[in-house]
Amino acid sequence: MITAYHRPQTLDEALVLLSQPNRTPLGGGTLLSHLKFDSVEAVDLQAISLNTINKQGNNLEIGATVTLQQLLESEHCPETWKSALKLEAPLNIRNSATVAGTLVACDGRSTLATILFALDAKLEIKSINKFELMEMEMESRPPKQEVATVGLGEFLPLRLDQSRGKLITSISVPLSGKFAFDYVSRTPADKPIVCAALAQWNSGRTRLVLGGHGKSPLLAMDGTEAEGIETAAHNAFHEATDEWASAEYRMDVAATLAKRCLESIK
Ligand SMILES: Cc1cc2nc3c(=O)[nH]c(=O)nc-3n(C[C@H](O)[C@H](O)[C@H](O)COP(=O)(O)OP(=O)(O)OC[C@H]3O[C@@H](n4cnc5c(N)ncnc54)[C@H](O)[C@@H]3O)c2cc1C
Repeated sequence: MITAYHRPQTLDEALVLLSQPNRTPLGGGTLLSHLKFDSVEAVDLQAISLNTINKQGNNLEIGATVTLQQLLESEHCPETWKSALKLEAPLNIRNSATVAGTLVACDGRSTLATILFALDAKLEIKSINKFELMEMEMESRPPKQEVATVGLGEFLPLRLDQSRGKLITSISVPLSGKFAFDYVSRTPADKPIVCAALAQWNSGRTRLVLGGHGKSPLLAMDGTEAEGIETAAHNAFHEATDEWASAEYRMDVAATLAKRCLESIK
């Protein structure tokens, strides 16, 4: 339940609000507005201009409050991302849900988290610590922001701790390599039972991330070349049984999808 609502006008104001306990950022609010048990104060991010998409050299800088649909329609959105963005959520949700909110709230079936993890996306996370807040008030000056850059792969398993009192401000995605995404689901528009995202850079570095099961997507391989990718995909899902599919099924499908992704970038 949301017990209080704040709408800061600047990033500093948002960070000061979030430095107090029990306050949480509100992106699109599609999930937060449905909280039944936790009481939180929402800090709405819509007025602080974190909704831009910029291509800087070989990096795509995605503001935290860019909506899934805004990203999908952006001239900078790579074609290879589009099916994954459409699978993430239906249009009405895509129009509200933000990229950062989706990464914080995602589970293993998130196609967006799967592709961004494979691409080795980095999150910029800002905060203001309590001591800085006291000094800032005594000295009547703007607060000094703490800035951390965290790989999505490190962020996902610890995301509740990593985002408490903090704000994801942007997501930076390297676009220099080759990329492929493929999936299997009950129907073409359904959430995947297995999905695979493969990124390969000029150096030969190859990353395979699998989605479709568990609490977050899984890094199946990050190697200096693609050798052994099907085996890595197969082995990664050896315990991936749930109500949607058995581990045996997922292991076979993951190996096939990894092979298809690799063939498509050759
Ligand atoms: C009808 C309906 C259908 C849905 N269908 C799906 C679905 O098919 N698949 C699916 O995965 N999800 C689904 N969801 C859940 C939800 O839509 C997604 O998780 C959504 O992407 C969350 O994004 P948001 O911007 O709305 O996040 P919010 O609801 O605003 O926030 C979600 C979490 O992220 C945190 N957060 C938001 N922005 C930031 C930030 N910048 N920095 C740090 N923390 C932040 C919030 O504090 C909160 O903990 C559905 C929800 C509804 C209501």
